[in-house]
Amino acid sequence: MSVALFVSDLHLCPTRPAIVRLFLDFLADQAATADALYILGDMFDYWAGDDNLAEPFNTSISNALKALAGRGTQLFFIRGNRDFLIGADFARASGMTLLDEPYLATIADVPTLLLHGDILCSDDTAYQEFRREVRQTAWRAAFLGRPLPERQAQIEALRERSEQAKRGKSDALMDVNAGAVSDLLRTYGYPRLIHGHTHRPGQHQHRVDGYPCERWVLGDWYEKGSYLICDERGCRALPLPPSKA
Ligand code: MN
Repeated sequence: MSVALFVSDLHLCPTRPAIVRLFLDFLADQAATADALYILGDMFDYWAGDDNLAEPFNTSISNALKALAGRGTQLFFIRGNRDFLIGADFARASGMTLLDEPYLATIADVPTLLLHGDILCSDDTAYQEFRREVRQTAWRAAFLGRPLPERQAQIEALRERSEQAKRGKSDALMDVNAGAVSDLLRTYGYPRLIHGHTHRPGQHQHRVDGYPCERWVLGDWYEKGSYLICDERGCRALPLPPSKA
């Protein structure tokens, strides 16, 4: 039996110690018995660059991931909109393999397409424009070339602006676009789809060109933890018990 676990949208940060504890417990417990753990973005509330790896909070997370990898669980990471600046140094320190999205994996013999999910929110054209800009190699190089404190300050300012903008955006705008989902499923040969980002956990059935496709949306870890487990029997979403600490 091959068992893969999926999480996303943990938004780990030093000011949310209960969720951090829950994640460390999850790595030591549920994830340690799995063959693979896929983290589908927004593991960190934000990531200013791999040169901030030595910061104690970041080190505690990368050490826990590295320990899990050392015990034999394969670790894969897809960048989210909050931590798209995670790079090869962090991946190496954490024993993770970075995957470019969308990534077509074979999970317990089922073709399964993995992505963070923000590219599916195509109705939010202002966000998509911002995303295109910051994902360019030149933008990334220029941003990472600036001093760390300056980057951190700019990210804080950006987040403030994004929170304000979100208040003016409708629920429909913030969810996936059905056409974008169909197009993606068609392009990749009608696979199973797993993503996060929208913080609207659930299981959806799509029919694209007559093909049935299952779509799983992962939950966020703001109030409680949860994960998706996929094996030969299929996928199930499971809640995590509260932290033992
Ligand atoms: Mn996100």
